[in-house]
Amino acid sequence: MDTTSATVRTTCNRDCPDACGIVATVSSGRITKIQGDPDHPVTRGFLCYRTSRFLERQYDPDRITTPLVRSGGTLRPATWDETLDRIAERMLRIKSPVRRRSCTTGAAARWACSSW
Ligand code: SF4
Repeated sequence: MDTTSATVRTTCNRDCPDACGIVATVSSGRITKIQGDPDHPVTRGFLCYRTSRFLERQYDPDRITTPLVRSGGTLRPATWDETLDRIAERMLRIKSPVRRRSCTTGAAARWACSSW
């Protein structure tokens, strides 16, 4: 028997108005089981099919855990710093007055917007 096992009460993090209560069993820093929280006043132990299978995705070896950047027609892993810098740079370009004008005119808009 694992003596480091503990149960943790939490809430489903999906963008769903139900916000179902979850009881997670954590063992050695890893969630080993999730189930609906029977003491939740609204959802009373319910978890939908999608969330009840959450751990299969969470610990899937093919799960994407780092940002991917398109480069030369393929995706390559990137750091969060690089990714956030790229996003900030693009947002600043979009925000610039030149870009805004480009995107509000016909042919120029098609050229400018397709070059993003
Ligand atoms: S468990 Fe399912 S129904 Fe409940 S909040 Fe999460 S996604 Fe919504």
